[in-house]
Amino acid sequence: MSEYQPKIGLEIHVELKTKTKMFCSCLNDSNERHPNVNICPVCTAQPGTLPVINKEAARKTIKTGLALNCQIPEYSKFDRKNYFYPDLPKNYQISQLYQPLCKNGFLEIISFQENSRKIRIREVHLEEDVGRLIHEKDYSLVDFNRAGIPLMELVTEPDLNSAREARRFAEELQLILRYLNVSDADMEKGQLRVEVNISLSKNQKLGTKVEIKNLNSFRSVERAIEYEMQRQTKILEKKGKIIQETRGWDDIKGVTFSQREKEEAHDYRYFPEPDLPPLHITSGLINEIRSEIPELPQQKRERFKREYELDEKMVAETSSPLPPRSASRSSAIEVFVQNKDFGEYFEKVVSEFDPRLSHTKIFNLIKLASNYLITDLQGLLKGASFSGEDFLITPENFAEFVTLIYEGKISSKIAKIVLEEMFKTGADPSHIIEEKGLIQITDEAEIEKIIKEVIKENPQPVKDFQEGKEAALQFLVGKVMSKTQGKASPQIVRDILSQTLAP
Ligand SMILES: [Zn+2]
Repeated sequence: MSEYQPKIGLEIHVELKTKTKMFCSCLNDSNERHPNVNICPVCTAQPGTLPVINKEAARKTIKTGLALNCQIPEYSKFDRKNYFYPDLPKNYQISQLYQPLCKNGFLEIISFQENSRKIRIREVHLEEDVGRLIHEKDYSLVDFNRAGIPLMELVTEPDLNSAREARRFAEELQLILRYLNVSDADMEKGQLRVEVNISLSKNQKLGTKVEIKNLNSFRSVERAIEYEMQRQTKILEKKGKIIQETRGWDDIKGVTFSQREKEEAHDYRYFPEPDLPPLHITSGLINEIRSEIPELPQQKRERFKREYELDEKMVAETSSPLPPRSASRSSAIEVFVQNKDFGEYFEKVVSEFDPRLSHTKIFNLIKLASNYLITDLQGLLKGASFSGEDFLITPENFAEFVTLIYEGKISSKIAKIVLEEMFKTGADPSHIIEEKGLIQITDEAEIEKIIKEVIKENPQPVKDFQEGKEAALQFLVGKVMSKTQGKASPQIVRDILSQTLAP
């Protein structure tokens, strides 16, 4: 363990999901492929135009701030951040420096020691996105569709202590943004952009801060921090000096590289935006927005644990076709929390179980439902949604299906066939079982009849078993099962067989 301790802070930009842009009525459409169609005199900075604040963007920022335990000051203002770059037609970006919409919040994350840690959030403010530059061989093109899209920036205090913790923070934030429906927060589409500030300190002495940009995935956030910790440690151990700078991340080489020396706020010549009035945020508005906040991921985790007694034991990573999340967090609860549609479907299934059943039976059914949903049904869905039109299994039918398994009316082998058919046709399970003649044979007389046939047809294995070869019994059970097309209960078959063959 190095004697240097990392202090990591994050700056996260989020493109808000609104109908129109931040200061004009152009469409905010991140799927638009034709360049320069969602533009107007305002977002291309024609002389004489004036911006108008998008109320929805302000509301979504406040909503995010409230979900992150922030204070919402009564007044908020916009400022001009001046710099020259071809993707910025005004030569300044409207942002917030002095009076952001949200201040002093925190997000509680579960750290890897499985205790929770509060990561302080300095502020959440609102600004506008810039255009996109497309670099060709010997010229560059500019697309202003993105210029003026509402961009929310969240800044944390340097409270994160490791690469994994930083990743976990960013992942949890993404989940919250999606629950709040303020952004799709897709990193690949640039809707969520994470920048890292990292310094190494020794004996409480704060080191020089380095910023890392161009991080396009949670994995690269983690890798870049790990790389940077090693790079800086090596320099410090040789008594070298860390340069305060902005570094890029090369995902292929797995290294950071120097881009430019870090600007300070004064380099941008910030001044109050004269074209926009201050925002007055009343307590009435705050209460209204607060009332719209849905159950958040952490509340859901706690409720699922409490109400459904789902254990937090991890399910095998391979049994879940969901993209792997940061390390070990793939318990049943986590699968339902990460995938909101899925969690809602699970709850609908559970609500179909008869509440008059005994506590034990209900919770066994819930556990069985959760297992079949996460493994078998997700396997059939192959990543498709539970809320899509093509998904035909009603929660009522799924609950009935699970009950049939629980009551031993179908074996797990038959269950697979039934579920596939339910998935294809949406038919109810008892109907499928009847139509395909899949009902489990529980009539012992009938099973005995088949067993007698099998014994007669397989004298050698019978002899082997009677001479003490246990494996021969499994062979005979298999023969009976195949004769019944899997419809007999393997346990009953085994019991009757060993009784019949006992000396
Ligand atoms: Zn516009």
